[in-house]
Amino acid sequence: MRSLYLGFLFLFLVTSCQQDAPKTESPAPAPPPARVNIPSFDAASAFGYIEQQVAFGPRDPGSDGHRACRDWLIATFESFGARVTAQDFQARDLNNKSYEATNIIASFHPEASRRVLLTAHWDTRAHGDYDPDESKHASPILGADDGGSGVGVLLEVARLLQANPIDLGVDIVLFDAEDQGKNNGEDPMSWCQGAQYWGNKPHVENYMAQFGIHLDMVGAKNPRFGKEGYSRAYAPQIQQKVWGMAQGMGFGMFFVNDLTNPVTDDHKYVNELRRIPTVNIINQPLASETGFGAHWHTHSDGLEIIDQRSLKAVGQVVIATVYNTYMQRF
Ligand SMILES: [Zn+2]
Repeated sequence: MRSLYLGFLFLFLVTSCQQDAPKTESPAPAPPPARVNIPSFDAASAFGYIEQQVAFGPRDPGSDGHRACRDWLIATFESFGARVTAQDFQARDLNNKSYEATNIIASFHPEASRRVLLTAHWDTRAHGDYDPDESKHASPILGADDGGSGVGVLLEVARLLQANPIDLGVDIVLFDAEDQGKNNGEDPMSWCQGAQYWGNKPHVENYMAQFGIHLDMVGAKNPRFGKEGYSRAYAPQIQQKVWGMAQGMGFGMFFVNDLTNPVTDDHKYVNELRRIPTVNIINQPLASETGFGAHWHTHSDGLEIIDQRSLKAVGQVVIATVYNTYMQRF
C-alpha cells in the first residue's frame, strides 16, 4: 500500500510540473455584500400589531374577525412595499364542513434567487377547548399569543425591511387554518391545513428558500424556546446557528438548549413538502400538562398574556438572522 501511494505521489508531481501552462484569467469574484447595520427590533410596535389583530375579535375562518383581519394584513404588508399574494383554498372544520381560508404571502425582492422564509399562522382557534370552564369550550378564543404574537413580530420585521432595505429575497408566509385540528389524535392532517396547501402548491412554482423560521406562541412571559423535535430532525444546522446566535445576543434565558418534544406545526410541512430546512420557535414551558402555556386554547389567551421582552428577544433574533444572511455571516 505504501509504495503504491508513493508511486501515485511521484506521478502526480511529474504531471504537475509538466502542466505549467499559462494561467487563464479567472472572472473577478463578486463583490462582498455591503456591511449594513442590523436594525433594532421595536417590541412596542410589534405589540401594537398584536393589539390590532385582537381588536378584530376571534379570527377563526368564516368569522367576521377573520375577514376583517385578512384585509388588514394584506393592506398592511402592501403599505410596507411587499408584493402580496392572497392564496385562497378550501379548508375543513372539526365537523369536516368546508370553509374559505387564505394564506397571505408578503414577498420582498421577489426576483432574488437568494431567499429566506419566515412563517407564522394567522388564524385563531374556533374552540377554547382547554378552558377550565367547560361551558366556554365551544366559543372561539382571542389568540393574542396563539396566532397573534408570531404575526405581530413578522409585521414588525416587514416594516423594518422597508425602512432598512437589503438586496435579499424575504418571504413572509402567514398560514391560515393551522389551529382548527382535532384533539383526539386520529386526524393529524386536520392541523396545519394552510401549510399543507402551500407546501403542495407554493405561490411560486418550485419555490425554494435557503432556510425557514416559523414562529408560534412567542409572546408570553418568560418563554422557553427549546430545541423542538421536528426542527432538530429536519434543520439541525439552522437550529444550532439560530440558538447559538440568540445566546450570543444575550437571549439564552429564553433560547435554551433543552431538547423539547416534536410539535405538529406548520414547519413540519414546510420541511416535508418543500424540503426547506425550517425551525420552529415555540414556547414549550416546563411543568406543563399540555406541553404549552396554561393559556393555550383557553379564553385567557388575551393581550394581558403578551410580554414585550419576549417579543423583543424573538424579533431581534429573526432580524439578526435575516440581515446576517444578507451579509453572508449566518
Ligand atoms: Zn393553537
